[in-house]
Amino acid sequence: MTPELVDTRTPDPKKFIQGATGDWEMVIGLEIHAQVSSKAKLFSGASAEYGGEPNDHVSLVDAAMPGMLPVINKYCVEQAVRTGLGLNAQINNYSVFDRKNYFYPDLPQGYQISQFKQPIVGEGIVTINPTPEENVEIGIERLHLEQDAGKSIHDLHPTMSFVDLNRSGVALMEIVSKPDIRCADEAKAYVTKLRTIMRYLGTCDGNMEEGSMRADVNVSVRKPGGEFGTRCEIKNMNSIRFMGQAIEYEARRQIDILEDGGSIDQETRLYDPKKGETRSMRSKEEAHDYRYFPDPDLLPLEFEQSWVDEIAATLPELPDAKKNRLVSEFGLSAYDAEVLIAEPKSARFFEEVANGRDGKAAANWVINELFGRLNKEDVDIDDSPVSSSQLGAIVDLISDKTISGKIGKQLFEIVWTDGGDPNKIVEDRGMKQVTDTGAIEAIVDEVMAANPEKVAQAKEKPAMAGWFVGQVMKASGGKANPQAVNELLRKKLS
Ligand code: ADP
Ligand code: MG
Repeated sequence: MTPELVDTRTPDPKKFIQGATGDWEMVIGLEIHAQVSSKAKLFSGASAEYGGEPNDHVSLVDAAMPGMLPVINKYCVEQAVRTGLGLNAQINNYSVFDRKNYFYPDLPQGYQISQFKQPIVGEGIVTINPTPEENVEIGIERLHLEQDAGKSIHDLHPTMSFVDLNRSGVALMEIVSKPDIRCADEAKAYVTKLRTIMRYLGTCDGNMEEGSMRADVNVSVRKPGGEFGTRCEIKNMNSIRFMGQAIEYEARRQIDILEDGGSIDQETRLYDPKKGETRSMRSKEEAHDYRYFPDPDLLPLEFEQSWVDEIAATLPELPDAKKNRLVSEFGLSAYDAEVLIAEPKSARFFEEVANGRDGKAAANWVINELFGRLNKEDVDIDDSPVSSSQLGAIVDLISDKTISGKIGKQLFEIVWTDGGDPNKIVEDRGMKQVTDTGAIEAIVDEVMAANPEKVAQAKEKPAMAGWFVGQVMKASGGKANPQAVNELLRKKLS
């Protein structure tokens, strides 16, 4: 099904790439296969869980035993509708399942049940953020439901191949974009955004290493704003980083051919991350003719609009709305908001810390201290040794000036390694900030008495006061209120 191609973008010189003959523009469209989060498969009751012993999750339907009939899993349909709503897309209350015929050892039916002319979800829109301040709308062409195939295993035996049908029949959503993407960074932002949206919706876990999300990447090049060029399709990318590399390589390859007076053959290619290049897999002449026809075992899929409305009413706050709210409600920068909303669980953690507190302070602590530390130690936020209520207590202790920001970092370290109630730790270890000016003055006097030469210098040169601040803070074990120290020194050194 090749829809009419429409150019929705104004050429942006920032996204052009340089060739020997001048500027070129990439045109990219993505087909994403996203595994539906569901306990059972699309047309059978077998487990759709990842892993398991080979062929443990296989029903007679998945093995395509003669006479078996597929029965649609209503929950998978609901998940597809939910995803369509999250993509601001047209939900089709009437859609049709077709057989896509081809032979493959790990496809026991000899065809894949998919949707061709009448998909469950039609056109939609996703807003991507190639940079936190940049909002670019990418059109969605369609989303359809289909079955995954099994897996052939060639490396377990010297002369035989094995087939594992655990994935056979697992529900996939194929999400096809319009050719609206104009550079590798936009493609990466698009995949990232789709994954975030589906994680918020709970419709796909987005785990690319486990194969829950794979992308086929269509790339062509043209002179800026010109006619669409011939595309090549890079199959089965399961890493956002490699996808970016593959796009850069492929665009460059096409530009070199065109600038040498050649032409692009429409073909399917594979990316080799070790060599950093794409290789031809098959040309258009070798392309399959799938002989699609409506599956006679399945009725058209029909549902009431009221059911769609019920699903719509249960949608969570989605990433774009949440980002806008964090910016307006807490005064966060677009950059900070973007970092916080990237995963539903990090957004949840932040909102727990920010609740009833200064949002900017909360964002600083969550992003710089907590995320920094989690990344460094490779710990998932769900296993964070510092809970949102503990971090909230640390933020409170700083904002009510019980401790300084610097002591706050020490406190964070203690809570990270030993756990415990931050208030009690501050109490027990005497970490409270000294605001009693008498006590601070005693330390100031002590430091000044010990350094008469420096005092003389500082009276000449006020910038020297900084050295004294450091000494006094050190002598107080970091507990003196820095403002009080500054004021006292200013008075005494002038
Ligand atoms: P097919 O199954 O033949 O690959 P699809 O319609 O499923 O066709 O997907 C085609 C994908 O290629 C879409 O994402 C579309 O936006 C993209 N595309 C179409 N034409 C071009 C082009 N000239 N350059 C880049 N991408 C394109
Ligand atoms: Mg394709």
